[in-house]
Amino acid sequence: MSKYPIQKSEAEWKKKLTEEQYRVLRQKGTERPFTGEYNMHFEDGAYTCMACDTPLFKSVSKFDSGCGWPSFDESIEGRVEYIKDTSHGMIRTEILCANCGSHLGHVFNDGPTTTGQRYCVNSVSIDFNKK
Ligand SMILES: [Zn+2]
Repeated sequence: MSKYPIQKSEAEWKKKLTEEQYRVLRQKGTERPFTGEYNMHFEDGAYTCMACDTPLFKSVSKFDSGCGWPSFDESIEGRVEYIKDTSHGMIRTEILCANCGSHLGHVFNDGPTTTGQRYCVNSVSIDFNKK
């Protein structure tokens, strides 16, 4: 059993998510840059986990990093889990939804704002709730 409050079998996740959402969220995939619905999206509200609806990022934290994926300079406290990722010959920090364990993207410490953080998130991993 995993440690996450939300528990679903792989079959249940497949039923709930689209093929692309499943590939990214549950199999740690990456969407192609500059293709995501929320890449250049700057409305007021909150971005939630596509898999379990937990609010993860506030719109005030979002900025245009030019990297092709939605980018944030901080997450909502306690909502994101950080795991060291050494795949693809790089040392990176993977970010997951702390509520359901779904893959969101990676966080880098080269952010341009005062937090110094750049959360690089797949658009298909998140949904948007207007304020
Ligand atoms: Zn989640």
